[in-house]
Amino acid sequence: MAYQIPRGTQDVYGDQSYKWQQLERIFREFCYLYNYDEIRTPIFEHTNVFKRENDSSDMVNKEMYTFQLENSSTSLTLRPEGTAGVIRSFVENKMYANPDLPVKLYYMGPMHRHERPQKGRLRIFNQFGVECLGNKSPYTDVECITLAFSILKALGLNDIKVTINTLGDDESRASYRAALKEYFKPHLDDLCSDCKRRYEQNPLRILDCKIDHDKEFMKNAPSMKDYLNEGSKEYFETVLSLLDELNIPYEIDDNLVRGLDYYTHTVFEIVSINKEMGAQSTVLAGGRYDGLISYFGGPDGMSGIGWALGIERILLALEAEGVALETKPALDAYVMCLDSEARSKALQIVTELRAYGYRSDMDMLQRSFKAQFKAVDRAKAKVAILIGNTEVENNQVTIKDLKKKEQTTVDMEDMIKTLDHILMEEHDH
Ligand code: ATP
Ligand code: MG
Repeated sequence: MAYQIPRGTQDVYGDQSYKWQQLERIFREFCYLYNYDEIRTPIFEHTNVFKRENDSSDMVNKEMYTFQLENSSTSLTLRPEGTAGVIRSFVENKMYANPDLPVKLYYMGPMHRHERPQKGRLRIFNQFGVECLGNKSPYTDVECITLAFSILKALGLNDIKVTINTLGDDESRASYRAALKEYFKPHLDDLCSDCKRRYEQNPLRILDCKIDHDKEFMKNAPSMKDYLNEGSKEYFETVLSLLDELNIPYEIDDNLVRGLDYYTHTVFEIVSINKEMGAQSTVLAGGRYDGLISYFGGPDGMSGIGWALGIERILLALEAEGVALETKPALDAYVMCLDSEARSKALQIVTELRAYGYRSDMDMLQRSFKAQFKAVDRAKAKVAILIGNTEVENNQVTIKDLKKKEQTTVDMEDMIKTLDHILMEEHDH
């Protein structure tokens, strides 16, 4: 029986892996500029890192890959998101004692959720994310959003929109929660089964429901903004005015509550508005969390903010906008072996070229001259280096400039100089 990849997962190889590397490079460069350090946490954690008390999100309740090994009482879960593990590490390693708060961290890697696979929705997908931990200031919120926006712009996305909302502090949310329960009470029978659960656990999430979204009674649901206390209102207004000053365009979306339960104050998403994008158009999402650090045993009242983007969705959005990304780069040189005796010489030469910094390869199979030239073509090599018995005897190489279609035979010791000349010239063009 043929082996097959599991549903909802994918292999990344060929040109595609160069595109991924390009995204990774840009992401790292921006994190470097913004003074974020990388953190790598385990792919699995103890289940209670993700499954927290009273969490109502689908991700935690329905989508987690949780397992327990035979003869073990330990329940482990493949990480469905990055934030929880980062905060677990922040607290466990007492990073909160750092004299220079906030601690700014970024991560990248695979996340696992048992969802129904579709375009832009996988069971193993990859995120880049950042967390800025240990302070609470609208300046940090804005820095975080600016980083997200700048990365997406630098990747080449133009058809994007930042949507933003505030969930206020605990006090504001408690009164909003009460108002929502009051409002949805007469509509309980009309809510989907998930929303019936959400009604008890976290009625805010009803507003985020993809099933109930267009139902008539949703239209007049109370809005968070009418339940914000003064402090929360002021916080949000400062965030917005700082965004204005930096010319970051945004749209306030009263219904934006985000999928996860731990958010407070600022929540935001970046959505691709390109028509080619299907239902999965949210490419990046994040928000502030006041309670999460103390939940994990960190100092009381210590807040954080973060976001994550989905690499596969970003790639779809880039494709929709027709942005060309990097593909497999051409070889500088391909060493062709014309006689079997020349093979060890060829190996020495290709090793020297690589040590010097030229991306190069050689024929290892002693294929025919014609077959080797086809390989040169496929590799889009800029230069072919031909070695046969004559070259070995005279300690020379024949260098063919494939662009100019010119060929010269030079002494071994002049090989690099000649190559520099040809390849630099090409580079200048
Ligand atoms: P959605 O509403 O699309 O399910 P979410 O609220 O579950 O998204 P987050 O947990 O905030 O998403 O994750 C941040 C980003 O990760 C999303 O904006 C998206 O780009 C990406 N993402 C989330 N789930 C998946 C998935 N199953 N497949 C691919 N990308 C995903
Ligand atoms: Mg989801």
